[in-house]
Amino acid sequence: MKDIEGLVRPNIARLSPYSTARDEYQGPLGIFLDANESPYETGWNRYPDPHQKVLKARISEIKGVPVDSIFLGNGSDEAIDLVFRVFCVPGKDNVVAISPSYGMYQVAAQTNDIEVRNVPLEADFSLDSAKLLAAADACTKAIFLCSPNNPSGNAFPVEQILDIVERFDGLVVLDEAYADFSSIPSLAKEACTRGNLIVLQTLSKARGMAALRLGMAFSTPRIIELMSMVKYPYNINQAAQSLVLKQLEESVETQVEEIKAERALAYDRLASYPFISKVFPSEANFLLVRTADADALYDHLIADGIIVRNRNRIAGCEGCLRITIGTPEENRKLYKSLDTYEEGNIR
Ligand SMILES: *Cc1c(COP(=O)(O)O)cnc(C)c1O
Repeated sequence: MKDIEGLVRPNIARLSPYSTARDEYQGPLGIFLDANESPYETGWNRYPDPHQKVLKARISEIKGVPVDSIFLGNGSDEAIDLVFRVFCVPGKDNVVAISPSYGMYQVAAQTNDIEVRNVPLEADFSLDSAKLLAAADACTKAIFLCSPNNPSGNAFPVEQILDIVERFDGLVVLDEAYADFSSIPSLAKEACTRGNLIVLQTLSKARGMAALRLGMAFSTPRIIELMSMVKYPYNINQAAQSLVLKQLEESVETQVEEIKAERALAYDRLASYPFISKVFPSEANFLLVRTADADALYDHLIADGIIVRNRNRIAGCEGCLRITIGTPEENRKLYKSLDTYEEGNIR
């Protein structure tokens, strides 16, 4: 791989980060007349810790990765955006991504004026490493992978991902938003030492904290330092830091097991409908299904108050709906609605 310093945008390499008022003082209780805050206690009158030390220490314990290998963002979406802002020169550099995949890579690339070279997955959504690597050129700073992949649900073998990490000169960003539901192990620990791997995880899915907006990136201390230098100083607000810390003490193990059991039931049930031609195997908390008329099936479900994700207009997902696994009761309601669907019949 290339030296990481050679991948960084020159203006970022020269950046001296904003030092916050409280960075200089590490002592115990003091009188804080440095940040123009209100001195009157509201519970929220002080700026939050820009380094999220307490939260990172707890996440470090839970994930088994060193504190200096952890970046916390306002959702994984912030970490995705920062990859472009730290490494990609607008109008010049490009990234390679798989297709279909998560839409934010494209959006973040476009807002940063970076070309995305989309490499279509195979018909079964497996990945051809040679095609992926062939799409890269001297201006390719990163390859974006998502495993388990959204919206297809499949995970790529660990050996295949590590092989890509080894063969590619630039960064590999591996989005593991659905890792909690997968039988394929996470590469978060691997990312702390590899040098060119960034693993993204989120508290928005299995951990049940989508509203708090907390995404994590795991990588080498230098890559984490670069991302931290470019982020807004107070990117994780105090409410999120406090509430996440508390909520992390709740186990989601039984919920994840229930979702996986419901996923197996849903796979069989959905496959049994004559109008569903394919249910794609999933390592995530959703199933992608193919049907002759996705828009009609979508409208049928909407009429019953059931909202799924219509992926019909996404390349590689023609005729497909993505259905999140809900509670057992919600899933029963989905089946009840599907039981009354008749192809070609508009209600
Ligand atoms: C849901 C999802 C995320 C989560 O994004 P947050 O900003 O952390 O909520 C990230 N990547 C993928 C592939 C997702 O599906």
